[in-house]
Amino acid sequence: MSSASLRRVAGACRVRCGLPCQLGGARYYGTGPSQAEARDEDTASRNAPNVHARSRTYFSGIQPTGVPHLGNYLGALRNWVKLQREAKPNDTLYFSVVGWHALTLPQDRNALLKAQTDMVALLLAVGLDPERSIIFHQNQNPDHLELAWYLNCITPVGKLRRMTTWKGRLADARNANDESEVDDSLLNTGLFTYPVLQAADILLYKATHVPVGEDQQQHIELSRDLADSLNRQLGAHNKEFRRTFPLPEAVYTPSKRILSLRDPSSKMSKSSPFEQSRILLTDKPEAIKSKIRKAVTDSNSEIAYDPINRPGTANLLTILAACEDAQPEQVAERYAGKDHGILKADVIDAILELLRRPREEYERLIQARDYLDRIVEGGLFKARSASGKVMRTVRDRLGMLAIP
Ligand code: ATP
Ligand code: MG
Repeated sequence: MSSASLRRVAGACRVRCGLPCQLGGARYYGTGPSQAEARDEDTASRNAPNVHARSRTYFSGIQPTGVPHLGNYLGALRNWVKLQREAKPNDTLYFSVVGWHALTLPQDRNALLKAQTDMVALLLAVGLDPERSIIFHQNQNPDHLELAWYLNCITPVGKLRRMTTWKGRLADARNANDESEVDDSLLNTGLFTYPVLQAADILLYKATHVPVGEDQQQHIELSRDLADSLNRQLGAHNKEFRRTFPLPEAVYTPSKRILSLRDPSSKMSKSSPFEQSRILLTDKPEAIKSKIRKAVTDSNSEIAYDPINRPGTANLLTILAACEDAQPEQVAERYAGKDHGILKADVIDAILELLRRPREEYERLIQARDYLDRIVEGGLFKARSASGKVMRTVRDRLGMLAIP
């Protein structure tokens, strides 16, 4: 993007953000914060075509725990851009940098500050459009924490004990060989309850769809359970509120779990201390070549797609298939009689092509700090307008005093 077009987009955004926001798509079940507002909405919806009933609200987040990797891109970010492109005019899309989640593991202050802004540059570099999607920092909107507290108060501890993602995160961060090396004694309360904060992130915007990687499956199920429990609590004395929150659905891609290049028994992760385990979206071509050449496969020289018994080879085929928008089984057929060296060379070419443009865009955008700040300022304004309404309803229904 040229600096002139950067200025143009930034200018347009500033004007837009000064106006009251129209976030109708989020009102899936049509409950409002006050009777007057509900009346306005009723009148508006009677006069407008019946589009709200089918409108969708997408919410997803990424932690500022480092530069996103190929797994984040193929499992989540690329899907965000696709959904943005295919969204109907009345759909609403929220994409958030979720800083409070990053603090569930120790972080370096300066690195964390930088990672938050860098992540915004990356989200734009992969193709998110701030004119269409609401891009903001979760940790600049305290409504997330307040709703998380209310959800904590109705979340059975037994249900949280069944959430096992913390084990993988802790094992990665502590450089453990596998999850069996970490146990409850290392678990802090934030890491234990972060699925509840994630549920709050999603419910706060009445999200109907949550595009994530497969590792988030348990958490989306928990979010659905908590939406249902909170609906019952809010509607205890008034049926109208029993459908306040839609039950969110996960949206996956075919490449919903990209594996570590170093250890194909675990997923590719930002928090793994092993840099060779992941391809960063900002990696230079030489680094990409070296990491793929060293990727762990197996001693069987035949190429076949067998994710259970040959996860390393299957991972390379999944990556190549995702780059080509094909099925891994079909891609594998092309390599009959060929070896891993040939497969790896093609994977390298495909990744170089896939990441070339996002990397160039990132390098340009990262220089435009003021522009990035304006984008998230505009996003935050829209996010808070939407979440503020939801929280007024929640407080009122739970018997909490309104915030003056
Ligand atoms: P961390 O190690 O700090 O948890 P992460 O790599 O898991 O980082 P997140 O910020 O937790 O990344 O997740 C962002 C999104 O990327 C989520 O939707 C998550 O499901 C998805 N994702 C993460 N890793 C992968 C992967 N290896 N394959 C596919 N999707 C992934
Ligand atoms: Mg993660």
